[in-house]
Amino acid sequence: MALDRKGLDQAVDEAFPLLSSLAQRIHATPELAYSEHRASGWIAEAVEGAGISVERGLGGVETAFRARVGGGSGPRIAILAEYDALPEIGHACGHNLIAAGAVGAFLALSRQTATLSGTVELIGTPAEEGGGGKIRLLNAGVFREVDVAMMYHPYDRDILAHPALATKRLTMTFRGAPAHASIAPWDGQSALTACLETFRLIDSQRVHFRDGVRVHGIVTDGGQAVNVIPERAASLFLLRAPSLDELERVAVIVERCAEGAALAAGVEVELSMRNGYKNMRNNLALARRFGKALESLGRKPRETDPSVGAGSTDMGDVSHAVPSIHPYLGICDEGETLCHEREFADCANSPRGLETMRLAAKAMARTAADALEDRELLASAREEFERA
Ligand SMILES: [Zn+2]
Repeated sequence: MALDRKGLDQAVDEAFPLLSSLAQRIHATPELAYSEHRASGWIAEAVEGAGISVERGLGGVETAFRARVGGGSGPRIAILAEYDALPEIGHACGHNLIAAGAVGAFLALSRQTATLSGTVELIGTPAEEGGGGKIRLLNAGVFREVDVAMMYHPYDRDILAHPALATKRLTMTFRGAPAHASIAPWDGQSALTACLETFRLIDSQRVHFRDGVRVHGIVTDGGQAVNVIPERAASLFLLRAPSLDELERVAVIVERCAEGAALAAGVEVELSMRNGYKNMRNNLALARRFGKALESLGRKPRETDPSVGAGSTDMGDVSHAVPSIHPYLGICDEGETLCHEREFADCANSPRGLETMRLAAKAMARTAADALEDRELLASAREEFERA
């Protein structure tokens, strides 16, 4: 017996008041990475309210969780919920809508548990904003037996398979020698000079970066006193590239710039490079199926859109481990506002945002149903994943 697709839609509609209130409560109570205690609690309560048990503290991460329906030897489909917010601007990335949409899709599928030809999991993944919650869950083995992972993300337009860039964080600490900036500047070695020169040297190298690379930094320590040649200076850079190979290449260039600047200024530099997120490998077989579901619900998504830039997400790491999709759905007019802007936070709490969440829940439920029942779809998703 196959899952009743109309029944999935109806179940999302019936749950819509609950999903909306969940999205609005999370929106009104923004919590930062790994502190999403109330959000993860409310989501777990909503799921438990449907008689499904929730495993809290998943993978040793306090605000992660998992709920499961179905079973057997069939495919295992994971629907991912994010719910962390940003400092100052709250839910300006719309993760409250991601959470509610994921819950909606999961609850709809759970209503037909007897007909599930596999397992559906709702995985609560904290700390997308810089904390890499999904990486901790990956390392804990949470995705080991998952066949397909899916989530959606609010945006200003509908895009099925948009890139997300791989990232590294680089901390630079320069150490020179202090001296009175007026009485004896010749006795000092300015750490700040090297720090600033690094920015200029990196700019000089941008011509050699491949398309889509982003390198952006801030000065985190610009000196200790205005009348002292700065003994210490520091900066933080984020390096992003469309592929891990290009990211490695750019990292070498950026480090060289810091070393060159330090050499010129006669100071020491200490570099600390940390891996961030991997680039997103969108599974096109699954993304197109999600697109079909969206079209039948009245939207006209495009596959990608080079006119809009790309960010980064820890869903990229999941996509290197499991065939994954991370489609974007508009919650405002194109160009009106974008993620990480104050206006976007308003859209994430608007009737239009909630309607998009409803639609995303339906499209994810349908895509999950297809992945469970259409063995050809699953095989081509797998084949595409192995090829990459
Ligand atoms: Zn986001």
